[in-house]
Amino acid sequence: MPILRQLLHYRSDAVCSTVWSLECSGCSDARTLGLLGLLGLLGRCSRSLRDDACVAVTLAGEGMLPGPSHRLAAIPRRPSPARPASVERMDLALLADTLAGRSQPAYRARQIWDWAARGAAGYEAMTNVPAALRADLAADVPFSTLELERQAEARDGTVKALFCTWDGKPVEAVLMRYRDGRRSICVSSQSGCPLTCTFCATGQMRFGRNLTASEILDQALHFRRIEAVDHCVFMGMGEPMLNLDAVLEAARRLPDLGITNRRTTISTVGWLPGLRRFVDEVEEPIRLALSLHAADPALRSRLMPVNERFPIADVVAECRRYVSLRRRRVFVEYVMLAGVNDSPDQAAQLAALLDPKAFKVNLIPYNPTGAFDGSSRPAIAAFKAVLDRSGVPATVRLTRGRDIDAACGQLAAQATAQP
Ligand code: SAH
Repeated sequence: MPILRQLLHYRSDAVCSTVWSLECSGCSDARTLGLLGLLGLLGRCSRSLRDDACVAVTLAGEGMLPGPSHRLAAIPRRPSPARPASVERMDLALLADTLAGRSQPAYRARQIWDWAARGAAGYEAMTNVPAALRADLAADVPFSTLELERQAEARDGTVKALFCTWDGKPVEAVLMRYRDGRRSICVSSQSGCPLTCTFCATGQMRFGRNLTASEILDQALHFRRIEAVDHCVFMGMGEPMLNLDAVLEAARRLPDLGITNRRTTISTVGWLPGLRRFVDEVEEPIRLALSLHAADPALRSRLMPVNERFPIADVVAECRRYVSLRRRRVFVEYVMLAGVNDSPDQAAQLAALLDPKAFKVNLIPYNPTGAFDGSSRPAIAAFKAVLDRSGVPATVRLTRGRDIDAACGQLAAQATAQP
């Protein structure tokens, strides 16, 4: 049942704990219900839907997205007809299935993955894999789940890539090159984002769906094929804690590409159901970053509607639990918006919220994407001085890739604006 399968993408904490209002264009039924009811209703409706019918799912709220109800997805019954249906399954699982179908020894999948993780350009480079099998794989298992649509390189060496998934969803990733030799990649966990932070270009786009682990890894592999990489941040499109299983599956394979767990950072708005799981379950030393942006709850709710649902005090408490359990500091991201969150008083409020032993603040010069202006250099310096005096460790993030619109969501937003 294609509609049910599509909806499984949303079987995240977002769906389970949210009241949904559903309108079915097939039978004009409209109601508000929880996840099980939603799936049950779709099961019944789908029998009466025509092939080209759509189901519009409208998120009714419960504080997650205050204001006008948010149209999350109009789900086409069929994927884009231009692409074969089998493409939907091209990933590591498809590779394993294909190898099993050809009675290959158990070590073969690992052998092929090791080549890919070391930056091989394609199956033909895998010289210890039999030539006939390489040819079969080239025909049956696409080498990447993503197609590269566009790539831009900034004067500072930053490379930003825009990819497209098999079902036409945009995905962005960035490679940042630093003078000290560090090579850091920034990857997306979702296409678009359902969380509508007001300063973020991704938040203004339409939400697509969660990415699979292979779709996340293929962003990293794309850059690995260009050069060696050693750091990864989940700070591209989307909220990683809404797609935690795929994010962790991908993060746990990054060491094969040369990116250790300690050099992997997952950034969150503070989506508590995923964050709690992360704190309890992840024993690898993967780092945690919190997008805070305002210590004052009312201002934070204005900038980040998710704060209504998961208040900052609860989120900070959960981060402290991470620190005491895992003995690692949490990075706090704070985007500097002129006249909005950048006054010395607001810096003092931030210092009061954060225990200097548990947090390290990263002040982020805003890459303007519309509604806000970035803070001036002197305003950022004055803000940092207040944190310094309070003993809260703080740095100002280097701005990378300004001339290629490397901020979260910018490239994809442009691509959607210019079809
Ligand atoms: N949803 C996660 C990860 C994606 S955003 C999160 O919010 O943490 C990664 C970081 O980029 C966040 O801190 C976000 O606030 C920041 N960001 C978004 N748009 C930006 C912009 N235009 N300029 C600078 N930073 C931005």
